[in-house]
Amino acid sequence: MENYNSLITKQKSFFRTETTKDVLYRLDALQKLRNAIKNNEKVLMDALREDLNKSEFDAYTSEIGFVLEELRFTIKHLRSWIKPKRVKTPITHIGSSSFILLEPYGVSLIMAPWNYPFQLAIAPLIGAIAAGNCAVIKPSELTPKTSEVLGTLIRDLFPEEYITVVQGGVETSQALLNEKFDYIFFTGSVPVGKVIMEAAAKNLTPVTLELGGKSPCIVHKDANIKLAAKRIAWGKFTNAGQTCIAPDYLYVHKSIKDQFLQQFKEVTIELYGQQPLNNKNFTRIVSERHFQRLCSFLDNGEKFMGGGSNQEKLTIEPTVLTNVTWNDPIMQDEIFGPILPVLEYAELPEVLVGIHRHPKPLALYIFTENNAVQQEVLNSVSFGGGCVNDTVYHFVSPYLPFGGVGNSGIGAYHGKGNFDTFSHQKSVLKQTTLFDIPFRYPNVKNGLKKIKLFMK
Ligand code: NAD
Repeated sequence: MENYNSLITKQKSFFRTETTKDVLYRLDALQKLRNAIKNNEKVLMDALREDLNKSEFDAYTSEIGFVLEELRFTIKHLRSWIKPKRVKTPITHIGSSSFILLEPYGVSLIMAPWNYPFQLAIAPLIGAIAAGNCAVIKPSELTPKTSEVLGTLIRDLFPEEYITVVQGGVETSQALLNEKFDYIFFTGSVPVGKVIMEAAAKNLTPVTLELGGKSPCIVHKDANIKLAAKRIAWGKFTNAGQTCIAPDYLYVHKSIKDQFLQQFKEVTIELYGQQPLNNKNFTRIVSERHFQRLCSFLDNGEKFMGGGSNQEKLTIEPTVLTNVTWNDPIMQDEIFGPILPVLEYAELPEVLVGIHRHPKPLALYIFTENNAVQQEVLNSVSFGGGCVNDTVYHFVSPYLPFGGVGNSGIGAYHGKGNFDTFSHQKSVLKQTTLFDIPFRYPNVKNGLKKIKLFMK
């Protein structure tokens, strides 16, 4: 197994020079990264096409454009974010002032998955740089072209002791996890998230875990069916369903189920054509293993639409399965593919009971015009984040911290949340030396009585 001790030691020494804390250095790094991404747009698009058959539209909106926006937002606000924050001081601390300093953790490890292989490596890096950290990035081994472009881009921009990319698979991850990092930011599956947290626990390294799970999507009887169908089809089939916050399964009210499904079929054809397997812009499944795993679900329940696949191209048609139950294999784990199982319900409590029996999801979507129903669902279910009357769109707002809860993850990022994640809040009390309050000490007459006037 490879040993990364000398690399981490190098980064730690560089961090100690305080170079990375200089705001001009951080802004310069962010700007360089932004320019390089713009200059490499075509190379990145080609790599994403080769790894996943991502269309240029998808590559730009969900990977390149997304990180450019995150960079622009961060560059614009960084100077205000890094300012020490003055806070109030209680009467018991009279004479002193209080403030919070934001400091970088040090050397951070960023581990990324394959489904948005560029964006999910670069977005956390933006937070790491903005907060003043050094970083080691471990991209996914399942998208080798994009990981290679990422490696070259970073190598051309930054010295190894500041930011570097380490390529490799599970063994490489494990070797990296043997080192003592100051922060670990992991995006990936729930089982590997547990491995990461266990490794981090050995050194008490703080972590962000961006994980997955089965994200429900509810279509209530009073939903705007046309828009619901379009927004769900888009959120589910973008990237061939290989999106951590894609609607995993649908709960549709039985009174509108047929009408909704008919509409859903129509919009899916509008989006991807009559023969999506021949659509040269439909994303493929990342590997043979995942392709086989997904194909094994195709005989669950009843096929309402789709169901076709092409083993050579590793593509699967947008598929809807009805008459599915929680006992079917497709309902046991996150699907992560273009297959949408549909459950129906008569009363909302059935939905809530069904969701509550399972781990807290990363996302939840509710389509209804009824405020009371919206509130009931939002109050009752714990989930990472989500939308009312939309899917996936919450992900792209820099004002909404993005992350999971419980099984779907720990911590959040994006926008200021990204900077906050990679910053330690150092609380400082600055005491006066002009006077000293005597009754804080144990040897003062009637000290306790006086203390009780303030601490009650
Ligand atoms: P994964 O957990 O298999 O891999 C993620 C990273 O961990 C990769 O870099 C991989 O090399 C490494 N890894 C794999 N096995 C490891 C092990 N045993 N020890 C140490 N490192 C290991 O995830 P994936 O298949 O690449 O991605 C799909 C998963 O990621 C889905 O569950 C999805 O929901 C989740 N995801 C979450 C988000 C989010 O933002 N919350 C975003 C995208 C994907």
